[in-house]
Amino acid sequence: MPRALLARTRNCMLIVIGLTVTGAGCASTGVNKGDFNLVSYQEEWQLGAQLEQDIEQQLPVINDGPALAYLTRLGTRIVTQTELAQAPWEFHIVADPRINAFNIPGGHVYVNTGLFQAADNVAELTGVLAHEISHGVARHGTEQLSKAYGFNIVASLALGSNPPLYQQLVTQIVGAGTFAKFGRDAEREADELGVIYMYGAGYDPHGMVTMFQELMSQRQREPNSVEQFFASHPLTEERIRNVRARIESLEPRANLIMEDAEFDAIRRRLSRYNR
Ligand SMILES: [Zn+2]
Repeated sequence: MPRALLARTRNCMLIVIGLTVTGAGCASTGVNKGDFNLVSYQEEWQLGAQLEQDIEQQLPVINDGPALAYLTRLGTRIVTQTELAQAPWEFHIVADPRINAFNIPGGHVYVNTGLFQAADNVAELTGVLAHEISHGVARHGTEQLSKAYGFNIVASLALGSNPPLYQQLVTQIVGAGTFAKFGRDAEREADELGVIYMYGAGYDPHGMVTMFQELMSQRQREPNSVEQFFASHPLTEERIRNVRARIESLEPRANLIMEDAEFDAIRRRLSRYNR
């Protein structure tokens, strides 16, 4: 067993010993196997529903039928590849020219209009989308809350019984365009899962590589436009190399989608929000 995994398993066992009464703790199967999380799926989905309502009051979430239908179709194709395929995911578009996307608990994914403009094709847009969905499937947000707040988190977030902490989360999402600031391990896992889900859904995962490269060069040209994304998802050349290597390990597959006709029309449609 690799040392990191061994350490994680050991942590998890120690925590489980203390947790047998509540039944919360570590997932035993799937992507989250062995991970420590005190928030149940049900609580996570409740939290997401509540956050969604409050975010909508404070962020310029747009209600553009064709654009939302398009994003939802892309997102659903990715989600279908995951172990949370049956969950009610929801995709939202924020009128904001900065290049950003984020996931909050309970299957909500937000994409800025700026990301549509920065992507050259559907595979690039889907690269970031798949990465965000992967953070959600891997439950990185609630894992981080569990580590930071321990047992209190269960009582405090369920049904909003801890307004200060809840408000802090809303403020962070609205102000910083992120639910959590992820570390290297979470980023690596989200990249790796994202590549697998894209490939499974029939999208060319090289789109993730070229989108990341675009983000890196955008940081040189116009740092403000990607500041939020980089603050919450540390992006490095090493990450891009790892994604490339992961893609090379996959069986070559014909007809992976890089472009689709609708992407340009939707991008043009959303460009008015970026002026
Ligand atoms: Zn990330």
